[in-house]
Formats: sequence, C-alpha cells, structure tokens
Amino acid sequence: MSTSASYPLNYDCTKCPAYCCSIYERVQVSKRDINRLARHFGVDYETALVRYTRTYNVTERVLRRKADPVLGQSCTFLNPVTRQCKIYNARPAVCREFPTTDRCAHFDLLEFERTQQDDPDVLPLIQITFRNGNGR
Ligand code: SF4
Ligand code: SF4
Repeated sequence: MSTSASYPLNYDCTKCPAYCCSIYERVQVSKRDINRLARHFGVDYETALVRYTRTYNVTERVLRRKADPVLGQSCTFLNPVTRQCKIYNARPAVCREFPTTDRCAHFDLLEFERTQQDDPDVLPLIQITFRNGNGR
C-alpha cells in the first residue's frame, strides 16, 4: 500500500493514487494495531484510540478518514500529495496484508482504463459500495 518499497511485478503502487487507502470506508484496527500507533506517536493507548480511530457499526474500530483532493475521502494517514502512507512502519495489519494476492484489482483496472483510453495519465474514479446478500 502506497510506499516506495518494491512490489510484485503485477502491480506498482508508485503509479497508483492509493485507491486502497481511499475507497474503503473501513480500515479495521485491532488492539495490537492501536498499541503500534501509540508507540509510533509516543502517546498512550487511550489517546491513540480517540485521536486516530473511530467506531463503526457500534462494535468495530476503524481508522479515521479525511477529505482527499484526488478521490474525495481517504484514510487520515494518507499523504494527499505523494499518495504514500505517512505511518508506513506503524500501519495496521490489514494494510500490511493488502491486497493478499500477487495482483491488485484496482491496479488492473487502472492499467486497463489507461490502455483503453490511450491516456497514460487518466485516473478512473473507483467507488466501492456493498449490500448484503439478500439484495438490500
Ligand atoms: S490500490 Fe493496489 S496498486 Fe494501488 S496503492 Fe493500493 S495496493 Fe498499491
Ligand atoms: S494506514 Fe497507511 S496504508 Fe493503511 S490505509 Fe491508511 S494510509 Fe493506507
């Protein structure tokens, strides 16, 4: 996710506007993740909890979000200009695991549209919405 580290050949985060850090409303955090954030910022657990996370659907803890000039909204820790994570070494486990395979679907779409539009700079706006299995 959005750093200058090396990646599998199938996707390149340095060419991507960090869809994964922007389009997901929920970046889940565990107690371990919050402890890591607390250590990173030199604050106590409760301060990190309140300052960097919020509740989602009563029981879930997720990272806070902010307005983003490129994709509308993003994780609070995304640098809006470089599109890199500002807390890369302290990022939550879900960010470390994403995209979990050797391909990134968002990057595939980006490359597909750039080829289709014959424009290496075009930026498709991706939005993910979910509905439950019974169609509601
Ligand atoms: S959406 Fe995919 S290619 Fe883009 S920053 Fe995230 S992991 Fe990298
Ligand atoms: S913590 Fe970093 S890697 Fe995770 S969503 Fe936020 S900006 Fe992206």
